[in-house]
Amino acid sequence: MNSIRFISNALAKKHSNGRFHPESPQRIEMIENWVTTRLGDSISYEISDKMPEKEDILSVHTEDYYHLIEKTRNYEGHFYFDADTAANSYSYEAAMQAVQIGIQATFESTRNSSIFCLVRPPGHHATQHSPQGFCIFNNIAISSQIALHKKKYQRIAILDFDHHFGNGTAYINESNPNILYISTHADPRISYPGCGFSDEIGFGEGRGFNVPIPLGYRASEADLELCFETIINPIIEQFKPNFLALSAGFDAFERDPIGILGVSIEGFTYIGKAIKEITDDHQIPCAHFLEGGYNLNLLPELVSAYISPFINENDQMEGINPALQVKEETKTTIQSSKRVLSEYWSL
Ligand SMILES: [Zn+2]
Repeated sequence: MNSIRFISNALAKKHSNGRFHPESPQRIEMIENWVTTRLGDSISYEISDKMPEKEDILSVHTEDYYHLIEKTRNYEGHFYFDADTAANSYSYEAAMQAVQIGIQATFESTRNSSIFCLVRPPGHHATQHSPQGFCIFNNIAISSQIALHKKKYQRIAILDFDHHFGNGTAYINESNPNILYISTHADPRISYPGCGFSDEIGFGEGRGFNVPIPLGYRASEADLELCFETIINPIIEQFKPNFLALSAGFDAFERDPIGILGVSIEGFTYIGKAIKEITDDHQIPCAHFLEGGYNLNLLPELVSAYISPFINENDQMEGINPALQVKEETKTTIQSSKRVLSEYWSL
């Protein structure tokens, strides 16, 4: 029996970016309401208030940055780091708890039972020294660093299917050949954070281990399928990871209020299935880190569609909707990715 353990941080619903912000506490509330109706052998739910050590944060972030975040505890109202990322007096502890759940997920997920970090704030835009894009600490980068450092794993693949390029995760790992970062995201020319072009493939020893795959307006699961077949699966096959960490964002959804991509609800089942196949082929565990996703009403349905292959639902799912066409722009992107990456991988 395969199962998923959802773990949420105790202060997930207390951290706030300000009124009317899309990255709101209601995101967790909506998913939590759904999870608690589905509890059973295949789905469990826990709340954790455990905190990591300060040193865990410093495995990725600078000490100045840690202190900047810690100080927001004493701030009344909202402390704005920039136009769209803020903290209130709960944010420091909420962000610490989110990191700890990420570490727990990386160490405790097994092949049959993966952990879904139902956490706020998200993490993939946070760099070594700056909060941005609604993110404070980079949950997935910290837990991957710690797992490598403690020799839990030797090679970790991070796959990021959030609508936005995880610039923080990419920069933190850009020289590290033991962490492979692959991201599918909206074209940076027309979408935040304005980077993640196909030639941003890392530096030094880590060159070739950052794999950004930008997608055009309204790209759907048909485009993602081509990305998996031509780039993602072959590179993971050659990298041979011991663990797969997922930056699970749901803002690539066709009706996301801030997104421009076109993935359907069934498209998220396709993504889950493609990832489950990777973990089965390589016989490795995986863990899921919640990043974006802002359609409040449909967010639970998207999470449900995505996790269904991990709990053996939708085994009968046939291919994706044949009416969906791969965009010409995606074919061009894949050609440029292949060109720049072929020095490092057989593609
Ligand atoms: Zn996003």
